[in-house]
Amino acid sequence: MPACVWCNRDIPQVVTLDQILSWGPFPVQEVCQACRERLTPITGSCCSRCGRQQRAATICHDCERWRDAVINRALFQYDAGFKAYMQQYKFQGDYALRVVVQATLARALQRATYDVLVPIPVDVATWQSRGFNQVTGWLTGQPFFQALEVVADHKERPQSAKTRAERLVTPQPFSLAPNACKVLQHQRVLLLDDVYTTGRTIRHAIDQINLSGAKAVTSLTLAR
Ligand SMILES: [Zn+2]
Ligand SMILES: [Zn+2]
Repeated sequence: MPACVWCNRDIPQVVTLDQILSWGPFPVQEVCQACRERLTPITGSCCSRCGRQQRAATICHDCERWRDAVINRALFQYDAGFKAYMQQYKFQGDYALRVVVQATLARALQRATYDVLVPIPVDVATWQSRGFNQVTGWLTGQPFFQALEVVADHKERPQSAKTRAERLVTPQPFSLAPNACKVLQHQRVLLLDDVYTTGRTIRHAIDQINLSGAKAVTSLTLAR
């Protein structure tokens, strides 16, 4: 019996009549029901700018303060369940956990309107110590273009270790990859990041992508 990648408990494999009649291989469940329910999908109304779940599709208090027209959508609420997930996947580097959100992300990308998918990069030191970029880890068989690079001397504490005020004034951490203008010119770019917290990282990324001649830039994050 396969074990859940998150909690390591055995998953009873349930085969439906449709699967039997399809004559194909049975999909193996890698995440148990209880673990899937630890993440809370954003459903219904959300802020029309940042994608935060709320009662109406109005602009939330945080977005009013930004006074710009960033369009972000998010898949899950940034709650205790998502934090626990990121703790194990991103900070402890448990790469197997990428599958927990992959199907949800693949469906969202299918629905989204864009030409080029651009993941937010991690700096070289992080990449070397963790061994992977947590954002591209979620993209299996999904075409993307690494248009952004982390500025070489961009050394600082992780976003999560800073106060809100500190995060809002961070200097531009990204630069455009050498071939970015050629690839992105007149294209609709969709940025992909793990979490939208203050929105500062996404705005830095948008500022750089806008220099490439892209036609439009929107963003998708796993959580808000
Ligand atoms: Zn589980
Ligand atoms: Zn908002």
